Formats: sequence, C-alpha cells, structure tokens
Amino acid sequence: MNPALFSIYQYYTYCARDCRQAVLSVHFQVKLTFIPSLTEIFMRATHQYDFAIVGAGLTGVALAYGLARLGRSVVVLERLEKSKILNKPSHGLIWAQANLGLPAVQREWNNLALSRWNEFDAQLCQISASTTHFERPGGVWLALDKLALQGRQLQAEAGANEDPELEWLDTETLKRLVHSLGDGIAGASYCADDGQLNLQLLHRSLSRALSNLNVDQLFLSAVERLQDTGDNYRIVGEGINVCANQVVLATGGQSDELVQSLGFESLRTVIDTFWETAQVRHFLPFPAWQLRQSRDGSLLIPVGEEGERSENWNTSLAAYPPLQQLDIRRHWHDTRCKTANALPRYQRSTTHSGVFRIASPDSLLHCSLHSSLVPAWLVGKLPDKAMAPFTNNITQDNEMAASSIGGHVAEFSGLLHQNFEI
Ligand SMILES: Cc1cc2nc3c(=O)[nH]c(=O)nc-3n(C[C@H](O)[C@H](O)[C@H](O)COP(=O)(O)OP(=O)(O)OC[C@H]3O[C@@H](n4cnc5c(N)ncnc54)[C@H](O)[C@@H]3O)c2cc1C
Repeated sequence: MNPALFSIYQYYTYCARDCRQAVLSVHFQVKLTFIPSLTEIFMRATHQYDFAIVGAGLTGVALAYGLARLGRSVVVLERLEKSKILNKPSHGLIWAQANLGLPAVQREWNNLALSRWNEFDAQLCQISASTTHFERPGGVWLALDKLALQGRQLQAEAGANEDPELEWLDTETLKRLVHSLGDGIAGASYCADDGQLNLQLLHRSLSRALSNLNVDQLFLSAVERLQDTGDNYRIVGEGINVCANQVVLATGGQSDELVQSLGFESLRTVIDTFWETAQVRHFLPFPAWQLRQSRDGSLLIPVGEEGERSENWNTSLAAYPPLQQLDIRRHWHDTRCKTANALPRYQRSTTHSGVFRIASPDSLLHCSLHSSLVPAWLVGKLPDKAMAPFTNNITQDNEMAASSIGGHVAEFSGLLHQNFEI
C-alpha cells in the first residue's frame, strides 16, 4: 500500500480505537470530512484540548457541559466503564432544607444553586433532548415524636435569618396531604423550595448533552499523573493520549496521590447507604427526607453504614408501615467527599499553573453552578476573589473556618451577581 495512504489508514484505525465513544459523535464526523496532511496526522496522534476533566461523576460532567457551552474544547477522562457511571439511583433530592443551621457563606452558595436549577434543567433537557424528571413540589422532614419536632423548631429559630423558609405541619395536616401516612409521625417541617429528580436520568442527560456538544468522553482511562510539557499538560495513564492547556480534577474524595502531587489537600470519602425498594403505588405528593419515592414508585431509604436500621429507618417505617414487607431491590452507596469545613472546594493549584480542583459534598445540588458559574471562573470570566471562601485550603476546625469565611459573604455575593452573565 502507498505509505501515505497506509499512515492515513493507521490514523483512522487509531482514532476508531481510542475514541470509541466518539465514533458516532459530530466531532468525529467532521474529522472525516477532509483528509489531513501527514504533519497533521502526526500532530493529532495526541489529542489536544483546552480543558481535560478528570472524573466523570456529576461534578466532572457538569463542568464539562458548562465549559463546552462556553466554546471550549473539552475531554472527560474516567477510570470506570461507562455503564457503571450511568447506572445511578432513580432518585435524588434538590433539598433547600439542607440549609438549616449552615454558615452564611454556605447558605448563600446553596441558595444561588437553588435559584439556578429551573433554568439549568430546562437548558439541559433541550440540549440533550431528554428529561431528568426534575420538579419542585416542596418537601418534608418527618419527625417521629414531639421532641424531635421541637428540636428542629429550636434549630430553625437559632438561625440568624429565615433561610430556609419552613412551615410546620402537625399530624392532621400532614395526613390530609399524604393519605397513606402511618400513625407514628408527630409532624414535619415543610419547605416549598425542595425538589427532586431522577439521578440516573440527570447523569444520562448530561452525558448525552456532552455528545451533542462534541465533548469527548473517554472511559476506562485512569489518570496517573500530569506531565508539564512547557506548552501544556500531557495526561499520563494507560491508553491515554491527551494533552490539555488546563486540567480540572473532579475526582471527588479519590485519587489522593494525583491530587496531592498537584498541590491540593486530599479529601475523605464518606459512604452513605441507601436501599431501593420494589415499586409500590405512588403515594407521596412530595419527597420526605427519610422517604423518597421516584416516579416509577420505588422508595429510596437512607440507612446507616453497613445497612443497619438507623433513626432514619425507624421514621420511614413509621411513615409507611408496609415498608417492612417490601423487597429491597438494590443497595446504593453515596460516595460524598468530605471537606474539613463542609464547604465545596474550588481551588487553583499554586504549584501547577492552569490546574484546578473542584469538589463538593453536595454535587447534585451544586450541578446548576458547576455547569455555569464555576466554568465561568475556570475560563477567567469570574475573578478569583469571588471564589475566595472556597479556594482557601482551610483545614482548621469547622468553627474557625466558618467564622473566617463569614466576613466574605457580602462581597462574595455582590461579585457573583455582578459578574455572572452567561
Ligand atoms: C442514592 C444517592 C442519593 C444522593 N442524593 C443526593 C442528594 O439528594 N443531594 C445531593 O446534593 N447529593 C446527593 N447524592 C450525592 C451525589 O450524588 C454525590 O455527591 C455525587 O455523585 C458525587 O459526585 P462527584 O462527581 O463529586 O464525585 P464522584 O461521583 O465520586 O466522581 C468522581 C469520579 O472520578 C473518577 N476518578 C477518580 N480518580 C480518577 C482518576 N485518577 N482518573 C480517572 N477518573 C477518576 C471516579 O471513578 C468517579 O467516577 C446522592 C448520592 C446517592 C448515591
């Protein structure tokens, strides 16, 4: 065979193998519309991107989505296989009540995330031509007895301001709203801002949107380290042939060695366990913290580590006694990263220019910001100052950390609202 033709053949064979997931993408189809010169073939053997995102969890895909919408070329590298990543539980909460008792800066960030969710979801569904089943019917936190209800009321009163706005429901009111509610519930706090969605559909929608936006998603690609070439970073790992000007670590609480080699503190991963039951008749008009029902009817119940029946389980059972007889269909583990002060981390490496680490213990709630405002910061549209409360490597005890960031709140929210124009 003619050597030039052979090289071209080799190049396309390589592309077809390495970009398995991209074979059908528009990006690849565009590549096929012209025959590159030999020099181009050589240059493209390593794929060049503006941004490489390490980790295809919710944080990684939301960031990739936001960066692609800002016109950046993006690759997502994930060490697991695609089916593992997309097989999420069928229910997730967008939970405004989580703001109860949080430090001001955290409430501010969460409220911003909550305020952007409707728009984020509408755009995502349009771009991905799919649905996430997102809705905000409000939500309840159930109290097993009067004491638990009073404790929650005291906690709400102790907060300096009214975030989140709660209503207090007694047993009778609650029973009028949820007909099949068991007799063992003493009351509940209700928040109209609470919402729910299908976590699996959300992840799938984001992944589809990435394909539509020509983002390459490379699975079974474990990143071991970054090599600074002087011009950009070569991503090192088995089978990976990627260079990027900027790199974002979205590895949750994982890959300590990689994270530390790039100048970031490692984070702990906490594992919460959920049980998913068989499907039952739909009876919940809104989610309860301790009892979450997806549209297909299955219930998702938070249980203690190792699946022991905790306080949450007792409350779920009191609210819905038939739970005792339901088959447990699946067990889920929620791998949340844990930061010292419970704040997310939006950090720029001080040792490696153009390298960032993004991690959040509430990455579902924060998806609406990880796909808009945080990418705006990554491309330089938002000053570092705006992210100051989250960029400091604060590892002191929670109280000190909270008071040191509290002072930034007014300036921080002003900057966010002023600068955010996407
Ligand atoms: C049942 C359930 C219910 C939940 N409910 C809520 C909720 O109501 N509200 C809420 O806010 N959150 C909720 N969560 C939590 C939320 O879903 C998690 O916080 C989120 O999935 C974590 O996303 P992440 O991308 O930050 O981290 P991860 O999901 O941990 O993703 C990190 C990814 O990086 C990959 N990775 C790590 N190292 C490397 C490497 N070296 N190279 C390549 N890839 C690498 C990992 O394989 C992983 O896929 C829930 C979770 C579960 C399971």
